[in-house]
Amino acid sequence: MRPVSSWGRLSADPHHVIELLDRDKVAAELMRANGSGIAYGLGKSYGDASLNPKGILWSTGGLDRLIAFDDGAGRLRCEAGVVLRDIQRLMIPRGWSLPVVPGTQLVTVGGAIANDVHGKNHHVVGTFGEHVRRLRLVRSDGETIECGPDAKPELFAATVGGLGLTGLIVEAELQLRPSAGPWLEAETLAFAGLDEFFALSDESEIDWEHTVSWIDCTSGPALRGLFMRARQAVAGSGTWHERRRRMPFTPPVSLVNRLSLRPFNALYYAVNRRRRGVRTVHYEPFLYPLDSVLDWNRLYGPSGFFQYQSVVPKKAGLWATRDMLEAIQRSGQGSFLAVLKTFGHCASAGLLSFPLPGVTLALDFRNSRTLPRLFARLDDIVREAGGRLYPAKDARMPRALYEATTPNLAAFARHRDPGMSSAMSRRLMGS
Ligand SMILES: Cc1cc2nc3c(=O)[nH]c(=O)nc-3n(C[C@H](O)[C@H](O)[C@H](O)COP(=O)(O)OP(=O)(O)OC[C@H]3O[C@@H](n4cnc5c(N)ncnc54)[C@H](O)[C@@H]3O)c2cc1C
Repeated sequence: MRPVSSWGRLSADPHHVIELLDRDKVAAELMRANGSGIAYGLGKSYGDASLNPKGILWSTGGLDRLIAFDDGAGRLRCEAGVVLRDIQRLMIPRGWSLPVVPGTQLVTVGGAIANDVHGKNHHVVGTFGEHVRRLRLVRSDGETIECGPDAKPELFAATVGGLGLTGLIVEAELQLRPSAGPWLEAETLAFAGLDEFFALSDESEIDWEHTVSWIDCTSGPALRGLFMRARQAVAGSGTWHERRRRMPFTPPVSLVNRLSLRPFNALYYAVNRRRRGVRTVHYEPFLYPLDSVLDWNRLYGPSGFFQYQSVVPKKAGLWATRDMLEAIQRSGQGSFLAVLKTFGHCASAGLLSFPLPGVTLALDFRNSRTLPRLFARLDDIVREAGGRLYPAKDARMPRALYEATTPNLAAFARHRDPGMSSAMSRRLMGS
């Protein structure tokens, strides 16, 4: 047994961690298990999706091999523990790229499928699962099943976004897309108010592949923010050197707090709004800025932090986002990492996939006693707006909210593997 935390560092309970090293022995390993367990990738989910206190975690870090690559078609077959950053660094120089990567590249292929993750280009390419052609799934009774959009499609749809609850993915075949290289042309635009944000989103989605906004949620009704957009540079060149930094220790209290938030936000806004015009940038610092500081989650101190990520349909986007930001402002809580982005109309491949056409708001909050009241208010707004919360970021949503906002739950339940269970599945699904 050893303590395991997820990205929010809200707990460090003991787990029986079993390292999977050989994809041909996974079935035997799962059958040997005494009790239920859950797959663990890199633990980049914020809450309890990949936790199972006092129970089994099958860690997939050792399943890190590329199996085959069809250079002409851009088809990659790999094990589920392969890290997205490794695929990108290997494939982009060969003219291919993963279509979807979330805001950190430091996640596994299995984790990206099980949460059906989205990137800043959702409006162009949809979610990760849309680009998966085949999966090899091992169930806890040892059965090995191949599934995909055209082979056992119902099981495939349950597994994409299925939170590891339909079995353990041992390998996947991914369709990559052509890439002209590592350079992007990027632009940062300051905006004031939600109307301006929505106008910029509508305009940019036409010919900018990547869009995302940072907002200053301490700025009150005259909301200020930075709209960032980028697209492939056709003939880009430049230099970029990776700078690896690490948050070296966990401070005794959160460094993100009421005193630090306003100056932090003001500084970030002032520095970035000065970047005028279109620049050529390397894709890594633009798309995954947080990856340059390892263990940045320690900033929030020993009590950890929550992320609250919602999506609401487009027609409710304006009022629901405004009401959520007002509620946060009134509560005296604030978030440094406050991100606003619109999702496109691409359908998701998974029964439980999070995105829907509309607007998503993601906020980090240091763990504090007053948060439950704020979260209850935000939950009410999301529910009334016809939206939902993202399980990958969640550690606390009430089961009633999950049930009310997850229409495919009954269809999903038919595909569950009874030997797979996590702290999240017990909290949200009862088993
Ligand atoms: C800084 C940061 C930014 C992020 N930005 C985004 C973003 O922009 N968009 C987005 O969608 N997400 C984002 N995320 C969330 C992250 O992409 C997901 O939580 C992702 O699933 C984590 O992958 P992981 O490999 O760490 O998996 P884990 O967190 O270890 O596990 C996640 C889920 O996948 C399951 N799982 C893992 N491996 C397997 C397997 N082999 N077979 C079956 N199930 C498996 C686990 O059981 C669990 O339910 C972000 C996270 C961080 C820390």
